[in-house]
Amino acid sequence: MGTSFDGKVAVVTGASRGIGRGIAARLAHEGARVAVVSRALDAAHRCAEILTAEGGRAAPFQADVGSYQSVDNMARRVAEHFGGIDIVCANAGIFPTASLERMSPRQWDEVMDTNARGSLFTVQACLPWLRRSKAGRIVLTSSVTGPLTGYAGWSHYGASKAAQIGFMRSAALELARHQITINAVLPGNVLTEGLAEMGEEYLRHMSRSVPLGRLGDVDDIAQAVLFFASCEAAFVTGQTLVVDGGQVLPENLDAF
Ligand code: NAP
Repeated sequence: MGTSFDGKVAVVTGASRGIGRGIAARLAHEGARVAVVSRALDAAHRCAEILTAEGGRAAPFQADVGSYQSVDNMARRVAEHFGGIDIVCANAGIFPTASLERMSPRQWDEVMDTNARGSLFTVQACLPWLRRSKAGRIVLTSSVTGPLTGYAGWSHYGASKAAQIGFMRSAALELARHQITINAVLPGNVLTEGLAEMGEEYLRHMSRSVPLGRLGDVDDIAQAVLFFASCEAAFVTGQTLVVDGGQVLPENLDAF
């Protein structure tokens, strides 16, 4: 993909581990200066240190994406530190399970606040700098769950991930006049610290459900993010890309 990331400043939320860390590593490897964002500053710090040791340029920042004030402070500090913001990867997300019978309003709100409002707040807070960038790019990490599929125990999660897509389509129209694009990756099951917390049985079952025969790797997602964030994707906005090893394709179990 050439040298189109040299000197770009990228904010990646939820970058202390999992998919976010993979996105941060890929962007840093391609020459971007990366703001590694998570709630725990020490974890963001460790990730930024590793990226720097590997030859990249990265710095840690603390923010809770569910709080506008927190994200706004983070965006200001990133812009001050790096001199602007060109790419925003709104990736931070949580996926606790709760059955319909037992789900409390608080559990619903926690998932919606982080995953849906978190995307809105992250975009809003970074917007002043994205508008000044010559090629502002926003990439959301959504999911196949919600926009395309369902999973028992994840009705709140599925709603939050579908909300990101609805948000993205209207936001794309508002942002177009500033030449800012916004797109979303829809990962299937990707082996991360968060997914591992679902347990061995879940991981075994899910890897058997993927036609390509394995769980996703964080770099599988990072490569898709890289495309949406690139100069080469300047004419692509409001779109989704499923990265799931074919998991949503089979119409019946005979496919396996
Ligand atoms: P993960 O391993 O649990 O990592 C989540 C990251 O988000 C951590 O860095 C965490 O750090 C941060 N985070 C959580 N809540 C936050 C908040 N309120 N503010 C700021 N940072 C926050 O998760 P993952 O598996 O990499 O998932 C990342 C994204 O991909 C999520 O949006 C998820 O829905 C989506 N996704 C994942 C999969 C999968 O199979 N793994 C599939 C589809 C979609 P702190 O705790 O320090 O804040």
